[in-house]
Amino acid sequence: MAGKEARERKLKEIQEIAASWGKIISQEAFPNGPGLDVSLADMEELAMAASRALVQGAVEAMTGSQSEQFGNQAPCPTCGKMCPLKAVRRPMVVRGGDATLNEPVGHCPKCRRDFFPAAAGVED
Ligand SMILES: [Zn+2]
Repeated sequence: MAGKEARERKLKEIQEIAASWGKIISQEAFPNGPGLDVSLADMEELAMAASRALVQGAVEAMTGSQSEQFGNQAPCPTCGKMCPLKAVRRPMVVRGGDATLNEPVGHCPKCRRDFFPAAAGVED
């Protein structure tokens, strides 16, 4: 992971991009601007729905990318035999929304057990 300053700079960039998406969503919802009958609560509700969708899209993209890094097989944590991995969809509640993770799961026929390589952590 990059240094603290670089992380903060990147986070600020991402927040600026997301804020401009907020403007795009506003224009999409109200091409001629919101009428005076549109309450602040209505605007909040629209923004929150968009925010939840953004969290879902971002979390699913990042976890999906991590999941791909495990490849097609992984060693069984008990006996070490290489076992095929398959992706299992796991709906989750995450901060600010919901997401469905594609989690790699291995099955060792010798040990007759399932295992989750993502839960084991990445060792350097
Ligand atoms: Zn095994």
